[in-house]
Amino acid sequence: MAIAMLLDLAKCTACRGCQAACKQWNDLPAVKTTNRGSYQNPADLSYDTYTLIRFKEYERPDGSFAWLFLNQRCLHCTEAVCVDVCPTGALQHNELGFVSFDESKCNGCGYCVQFCPFGIPRLSEVDKTSTQAKSSKCTFCQDRVTNGVEPACAKACPTGAITFGDRDALIAHGKARVEELKAQGRADARLYGEKELGGLHQMYVLEEKASVYGLPEDPKYPA
Ligand code: SF4
Ligand code: SF4
Repeated sequence: MAIAMLLDLAKCTACRGCQAACKQWNDLPAVKTTNRGSYQNPADLSYDTYTLIRFKEYERPDGSFAWLFLNQRCLHCTEAVCVDVCPTGALQHNELGFVSFDESKCNGCGYCVQFCPFGIPRLSEVDKTSTQAKSSKCTFCQDRVTNGVEPACAKACPTGAITFGDRDALIAHGKARVEELKAQGRADARLYGEKELGGLHQMYVLEEKASVYGLPEDPKYPA
């Protein structure tokens, strides 16, 4: 059985409980930030931030305004270029479907950062205390799910925007949600990730076109 998560962006209220739960479970430090006039905080993914709620103000074609939230993290591709370019085996396909990461094997080459079609992995800073850069990304809470426990972000989400389970069941649920959204007038609603890059193990229910959220409409394995 392949496992997955369904990120229903239409249900996300941007409370960022998932961000906090991810930091807590993975023992990641807070990132010092400055006020940039946005609730999006921190500004970007980083070595210490595996999941981020991106805030986007959007004017719909009918002139109405929407505040959209993208839950940005590794999408755990089936055709995962990061696994293929990693020279040390730090990134691997797990038999459950997600892309695991073993930081102890990472040599900091940065190939995964360079080639990921979603721009996800980030390298650590090299300074006086750390002479070896390391990559990082969401691990699908590999230490939890391989022990039968749901990912920390899915457990923390209070609105049902993050659901975890059997991938086929989540695809069926995602398609039903898209039909609901279309019936509510969201003509561009779609399930993102059923087939993209061989099938993603973190899929989105989108209210608008993928490009509105900054996602590639048709992500490609790099040539
Ligand atoms: S989203 Fe990027 S880092 Fe995650 S599995 Fe796909 S290629 Fe790898
Ligand atoms: S699955 Fe775990 S590591 Fe990935 S975003 Fe959720 S809490 Fe963070």
